Amino acid sequence: MAFVGSGQSCYNGVNLRSRRRIIVAHYPVDLHVHTTASDGTLTPTEVIELAVAEGVQVIGIADHDTVGGVAEALAAGARLGVEVVPAVELSIQNRIEKDFVELHLLGYGIDHTNPDFVAVLDRVVQARIEQKIAQIKVLQRDGIDVPVEEVFALARGVPGRPHIAQVVLARNPGRFPNKAALFREYLAEGGKAYVPRRFSLRLAEAVDLVVQAGGVPVLAHPGAYPGVSDPAAMVRRARDEAGIRGLEVAYPYDKNRPHYGASPQQVAALISQFADLADSLGLLKTGGSDFHGAGKNIALGEQGLTLEEFACFKSQWPNPKPQSGSVF
Ligand code: AMP
Ligand code: ZN
Ligand code: FE
Ligand code: FE
Repeated sequence: MAFVGSGQSCYNGVNLRSRRRIIVAHYPVDLHVHTTASDGTLTPTEVIELAVAEGVQVIGIADHDTVGGVAEALAAGARLGVEVVPAVELSIQNRIEKDFVELHLLGYGIDHTNPDFVAVLDRVVQARIEQKIAQIKVLQRDGIDVPVEEVFALARGVPGRPHIAQVVLARNPGRFPNKAALFREYLAEGGKAYVPRRFSLRLAEAVDLVVQAGGVPVLAHPGAYPGVSDPAAMVRRARDEAGIRGLEVAYPYDKNRPHYGASPQQVAALISQFADLADSLGLLKTGGSDFHGAGKNIALGEQGLTLEEFACFKSQWPNPKPQSGSVF
């Protein structure tokens, strides 16, 4: 934990509070990006090509429970001059009594080739596949047309609820007014087709896994857990009991529950509030868009970091590994 709040000069100077919106409407660093390896709609190469077109210089590939897109993104990044940060977004088992409900843990700078790391992810993905099949069976039992094979063909990589939703909405026109209604009735926690996974990581286990793979464990989007009643207390517990070392401070809260439709001022206030929280707890600050391609109405680089903020974060990684094509 020596690098946390280690007093390096960048730490206090970089606060994410008074940032002007970048003129081109994109941040140059987007550390939270999904690809076809999970539920994004662009391949890793397409993401990097889009980054070049949009002037985003650093991309964190953070797919759900898989590093399957990282190697391709690194190769494309080296070719096209985009710095790629190998990452993952781990889904965490529910611990309702601790307010740890469906948390997401980001791991940055992990060695995506570490065999022990990949072996645990494979177990998580296997449980995820079983969970998705069970969820589809509930929908089918209710007379909804949703073939398992079609969902998995659409997913290509790791299947997620958005893949199920896409097939349900396409094959059952008129049954649900929109995706949100389908999630509410069936797929969201508490919905009829919500099924827990047989194996998933607890927060402390996920933190250890990321650290052992050489990465920095960062709690994702602290304000985007509709089931968490007290985000600040939850973040403190996640640090004290599980050892998270960073907090994803910048995030497009206006495009996600429970702050959907928030004004730019309200989003800035949330970001400021989480920046304060990170500082008071000695946590590193990150940011990203949660870009999913066409899967969400979010642009690449819509939220993220300035180059200075990223340099600060990176200077405090436990094992910084400069890559070719680095902008620093
Ligand atoms: P899964 O990986 O199967 O747990 O699904 C996670 C994905 O489902 C994330 O990308 C979320 O954005 C999406 N998701 C979760 N809850 C909802 C919701 N209520 N409405 C729309 N998308 C959701
Ligand atoms: Zn997703
Ligand atoms: Fe997430
Ligand atoms: Fe995400």
